Amino acid sequence: MDFILDKKISVSELKEKINAFPKVDCFDEQEKECDACSGYGDVDFEFSHNGKDYESNQDCPVCDGSGVFNTVSKQPNGKKELDYNKFFGIGNSVFNVLRIEELLQVAETLKSDEITLVNQTQANKASLFKIKEVEVLLMPTICNDLSNVVQNVA
Ligand SMILES: [Zn+2]
Repeated sequence: MDFILDKKISVSELKEKINAFPKVDCFDEQEKECDACSGYGDVDFEFSHNGKDYESNQDCPVCDGSGVFNTVSKQPNGKKELDYNKFFGIGNSVFNVLRIEELLQVAETLKSDEITLVNQTQANKASLFKIKEVEVLLMPTICNDLSNVVQNVA
């Protein structure tokens, strides 16, 4: 991709916007043993016909054979994470905020205080960023509801 833009984005500004990004509570995941099969994942079935008994051992229908249920704690565990249902706009494109965190990680690793947007054409095409000598290509996300784009730069 050609370098057609030279739009500087300050890493500290990006960090501030990430810090101000909406956050949600984190919950602990818990594994609960299926009480129908006691965690074995299979159960015995019996069937009688014309005085003859039939038996078979099959996947537990309650837990679908997994033996456990994954449940999420009712109480938040005190940690917070970014609300990944919300988006971050750069220029004309909208990104999953996870991509922005990755971009910041690259900038931090390279000890750069600036990220340059060097190629962006349409909102549905990849954007090319340059951090020092490293080029980072980010794919935008489809976002039909612009009210979910809660932060943006450039
Ligand atoms: Zn079960």
